[in-house]
Amino acid sequence: PSALDRDQMQGLRGIREFLKVRTSYDVLPLSFRLVVLDNDLLIKKSLNILIQNGIVSAPLWDSRNSTFAGLLTSTDYINVIQYYCQFPDEIDQVDQFRLSSLRDIERAIGVLPLETVSVHPMRPLYEACRRMLKTRARRIPLVDVDDETGREMVVSVITQYRILKFIAVNNEKHTILLKKPVRDIGLGTYTNLATSTMNSSVLDVIHLMVKHNISAVPIVDESNKVLNVFEAVDVIPCIKGGAYDELTSSVGDALSKRAEEFPGIYTCSEDDRLDAIFDTIRRSRVHRLIVVDDDNRLRGIISLSDILKYVLLFGEEEDDIRAG
Ligand code: ADP
Repeated sequence: PSALDRDQMQGLRGIREFLKVRTSYDVLPLSFRLVVLDNDLLIKKSLNILIQNGIVSAPLWDSRNSTFAGLLTSTDYINVIQYYCQFPDEIDQVDQFRLSSLRDIERAIGVLPLETVSVHPMRPLYEACRRMLKTRARRIPLVDVDDETGREMVVSVITQYRILKFIAVNNEKHTILLKKPVRDIGLGTYTNLATSTMNSSVLDVIHLMVKHNISAVPIVDESNKVLNVFEAVDVIPCIKGGAYDELTSSVGDALSKRAEEFPGIYTCSEDDRLDAIFDTIRRSRVHRLIVVDDDNRLRGIISLSDILKYVLLFGEEEDDIRAG
């Protein structure tokens, strides 16, 4: 192996060691607030609460049994939209759905319920990462048990983004070693990309995300230049107030409804290296990188799960063999 390969492997091992000695709890800021929603809340109202609080997900609480009832995410709203598409005559009923109906909605549209994984905050962060990759969960609730009452408590939720940010901020001496271009390490997806155009309807893009099981669709023009990206979380403002009939409007219209604080689209080239990507993560709120050529034409997409997978698993087996 070249010096470049050796450095790269050393950087990855350094990060993995770091993830094994830190806990999920370490990722949390010193002070934070957590919005937890009661399972009895109307789905329609939950949208407003997320929007007002500037969040895209929240843990659910079953107050009858005093238990954690799963995580509400944009996937749940996409399920409701699919339900509405399959049973358009039931719009009055859709309006009356509560968060506790989400499981029934999954059953009605025939999607498999997402595995509700949670981790204990004091377990190694490495474990939370492996769980995320295994279940494809983009966020994991940290659930503890109260010593006195024996009841579950949701401490917080950690996301892929938070973990990668934590790595970026605390591991510069390791990330700096990651000097191989993304082209050489095959980071991201470059074939069969699902894309859409500004004139497509929001509904078309949602169906595309469901079909490919992805959380973002690049919006391109006729020469494949990247104009924007429609994300699963963009669905939330679209159906605010139960306006499901507006989903037939165009992607262009929907994207103009984005909140002021929208962090923007991040692009990179195939010649960029992971050290530069970690710099971007350190500085900004990145949820994926769109890989473009010099003319801003779409080449590929690097999701946070692609990065997390590479950082955790690349060369793992070889390592195991050597260690064993
Ligand atoms: P994440 O799990 O980080 O939210 P995604 O669900 O968007 O990311 O991505 C899952 C996988 O699908 C990744 O390997 C990613 O490279 C790939 N992918 C993401 N968006 C697209 C797309 N529009 N077309 C094809 N593949 C995609």
